[in-house]
Amino acid sequence: MTASPTPVCGNDDRIAWLRLRSIALPLPTPISDAKVLTGRQKPMTEVAMLVAELQTREGHSGLGFSYAKRAGGPGQYAHALELAPNLIGENPSDIARLWDRLCWAGASVGRSGLACQAIAAFDVALWDLKARRAGLSLARLLGAQRDSVRCYNTSGGFLHTPLEQLLENTDRSREKGIGGIKLKVGQPDTALDLHRVGRAREHLGDRFPLMVDANQQWDRPTARRMCRQLEPFGLIWIEEPLDCYDVEGHAELARLFDTPIATGEMLTSPAEHWEFIRQRGADFLMPDAPRLGGITPYLRVQTLAEQAGLTLAPHFAMELHVHLAATHVREPWVEHFEWLEPLFEERLEIREGRMLVPNRPGLGLTLSEQAVAWTVQQAEVGDRP
Ligand SMILES: [Mg+2]
Repeated sequence: MTASPTPVCGNDDRIAWLRLRSIALPLPTPISDAKVLTGRQKPMTEVAMLVAELQTREGHSGLGFSYAKRAGGPGQYAHALELAPNLIGENPSDIARLWDRLCWAGASVGRSGLACQAIAAFDVALWDLKARRAGLSLARLLGAQRDSVRCYNTSGGFLHTPLEQLLENTDRSREKGIGGIKLKVGQPDTALDLHRVGRAREHLGDRFPLMVDANQQWDRPTARRMCRQLEPFGLIWIEEPLDCYDVEGHAELARLFDTPIATGEMLTSPAEHWEFIRQRGADFLMPDAPRLGGITPYLRVQTLAEQAGLTLAPHFAMELHVHLAATHVREPWVEHFEWLEPLFEERLEIREGRMLVPNRPGLGLTLSEQAVAWTVQQAEVGDRP
């Protein structure tokens, strides 16, 4: 009797080559949120993008990215470059194992923060490669619930924007088909915040979805007072009313007020998100896949949050998050930011308040010539097939 052959699952293709780029993405105008008005940060003029391109021996490819706002870009690039040789010769399908390998290689400098944000570019590229090879969009590879997602605009409502300009921006967003508007608040003078929100509500009408974001600049008494004063405006949510690590404070606001509380964009590990989920520190949880270390840890947060009954509204990077949001059980929101658009050839489509999930393989993104021109550092590892 001959032994039956060992079943072969999938193929045995291997990662042969990768390229890392550090890209300095300029912003059209310097950006200020509440952290600038309270003197904690300077206005932001560019985003440091970390881009990873992978290729296998059989010629399959993947594209992934991560980012740093203000400081941190060169550190992310250096950390990723140091870890990159760990991927060469590995099977690109084993994403969970590869994520662990990269994470543990740098674990002495952290299993959150910059160390994991550097891994995100590889993790996203591995998922992109897997979906492209399957001929599926990333959303479909993961298991889509919908082919479009509600979207709201943030970029028109920053604090450096004068009120009249802000109201004009909301008109332009609505003409484009955006389904909601978010305003920044959290100024030292809370009366100015309330005035801007009141004028925007009047301008948009009672029923148009409106959110506010205080970017962590209130203390607990101010947050309680503001949440109470904002109740009549019928907001979709109040975002980051408190320091991003104040789980207990956020949970108290979520219990006390009818307006939903949103937070989570600054958290850089599933462990940090777990505290908010466990203590019900948010109604809307806002994970950011690049900040978390990629799609792999994002999926872990998603499962925990959905099991606990929270709604997800991923932060920034709509080009990636539109695919992830398409898989969420409860109807999510994605954040419309034009900032990353010049990096890619493709544009996302918006219709009747919703962002359409691209049906191209993988993320459906190609790096633009402009992105190549803005590259400030790059390195290749392995042999290009
Ligand atoms: Mg925010």
